[in-house]
Amino acid sequence: MAPQLHIFFFPLMAAGHIIPMVDIARLFVGRGVKATLLAPAPKPPLLDHCVKKARDLGQHIDLLLLPLPPSPTASPERPESPTFLTSPAMSLDFFRALEHLREPLERALREHRPSCIISDMFLPWTADAARRLGIPRLVFHGVGFFPLCVLDSLDRRLTGSNTRFGDSDDVVVAGLPHPVSMKRSQLHDSVETRNDFSAFMERITESEIGSHGAVVNSFYEMEADYVDHYRDVMGRKAWHIGPVSLWNRDADELAERGGASDNYKSILTWLDSKPSNSVVYVCFGSLCHLTAAQLQQLGFGLEASTHGFIWAINGDEQHLGRRQEKVEERGKGLIVRGWAPQRSILNHRAMGAFITHCGWNSVVEAVSAGVPMITWPMFAEQFYNEKLIVQVLRVGVSVGPGVWGMEEEKKPVVGGAAIAAAVAQLMDGGGEAEDGMRKRAAELKQKARDAVGVGGSSYLEIDRLIQELSVSETDAVDSRTGSQCG
Ligand code: UDP
Repeated sequence: MAPQLHIFFFPLMAAGHIIPMVDIARLFVGRGVKATLLAPAPKPPLLDHCVKKARDLGQHIDLLLLPLPPSPTASPERPESPTFLTSPAMSLDFFRALEHLREPLERALREHRPSCIISDMFLPWTADAARRLGIPRLVFHGVGFFPLCVLDSLDRRLTGSNTRFGDSDDVVVAGLPHPVSMKRSQLHDSVETRNDFSAFMERITESEIGSHGAVVNSFYEMEADYVDHYRDVMGRKAWHIGPVSLWNRDADELAERGGASDNYKSILTWLDSKPSNSVVYVCFGSLCHLTAAQLQQLGFGLEASTHGFIWAINGDEQHLGRRQEKVEERGKGLIVRGWAPQRSILNHRAMGAFITHCGWNSVVEAVSAGVPMITWPMFAEQFYNEKLIVQVLRVGVSVGPGVWGMEEEKKPVVGGAAIAAAVAQLMDGGGEAEDGMRKRAAELKQKARDAVGVGGSSYLEIDRLIQELSVSETDAVDSRTGSQCG
């Protein structure tokens, strides 16, 4: 009999990485695998919450805390959550501080001898630690195939080439299955000049190439050309196992996914009173913040549109002033302070459109719910995701200021009229703008559900991955027993 697989899951301590990693751990537990989540001590509250929720639903996941050795560069709160980061340089410090966990990780690998470790892309040193101990490492990027292919094309052709562009120049992303081009302003600076951040990204790529492969929160039918490109043209190994949020069907747990939302029942009751496809949901994920001026314009835009809205404000509440009372008095909108039950909101029949920063999880969740998007990317790979939504899948329209960066105050403010126009284009456009997008979004929703159903593309992919890991685990056990006998 094949030995039971035991997988270590090591997410980056950020909501957008923890949430899908816990979903992945749960899906493996559902297939009979023993799962252990790793995190820096002290216990990160979000991870603790997710693990407790999983246990309440009968899915046991172990939590293993790695003690962080004292270091001059790593303040204790750093590895816990990057919500305070406001620049690539700060992000880099945060990622580097995590490397202090290498020794505790190696100890844990030696002691527990897991069959495999699935670790976040921003923890490239975990690949070296796993290799030293002969344990397969799979990388989890947290993003999809399309952005990975764009990144690869830009890296190969442009990064460090010292090509100079003007802000409004088009930068062609060559060699992809579709013609893709981006404005220079939508790209990170390393597209022109090699810098510390691009050096770190190169390290991530090397660690991926030296790993056993990648697991990706996506499904074949959503990005088929890019899954093939990633495998056949880039020559990398990957398993598409998503949408990972769809493996989890418990309503209460979904509502609390990633954070307790005690108000979720009243939000859903409010949505129940609205016609189908009539409400706009606004959320910029767990890390992005707008300036006071931009929040004000967004408020004007939402109020000027003829549609109801739910606006999740995460950390920018101080800029709201009296807007909340005014909005709620009229019954037109709901303002959710703090964590919103995003998956439950997106899956409500009243949902008509999603104004999103295009974080990968949000994109996949919207696709899985069949909700067209109004795209407002800010940084990271979000502009690539926007291209996928608007140009390749054609399930969204764009509205953001079109400037890559973590410092919102340096970007032009998008006026309320432009926001209301984008909402109208998607919600009242009629013809191709509205019907075509809504129809394509509904088709993708069905395909997402089919992918995770028994015999679906993601379902079978997990079978294949488990089979491959079982073979390598059997070999590892045999060689350990052999060396003990000999
Ligand atoms: N999320 C949520 N409620 C919120 C904000 C975010 O449930 O108020 C969830 C969202 O559903 C997604 C994750 O947090 O699963 C955010 O990940 P994403 O990749 O979209 O963006 P990030 O926060 O990493 O920028």
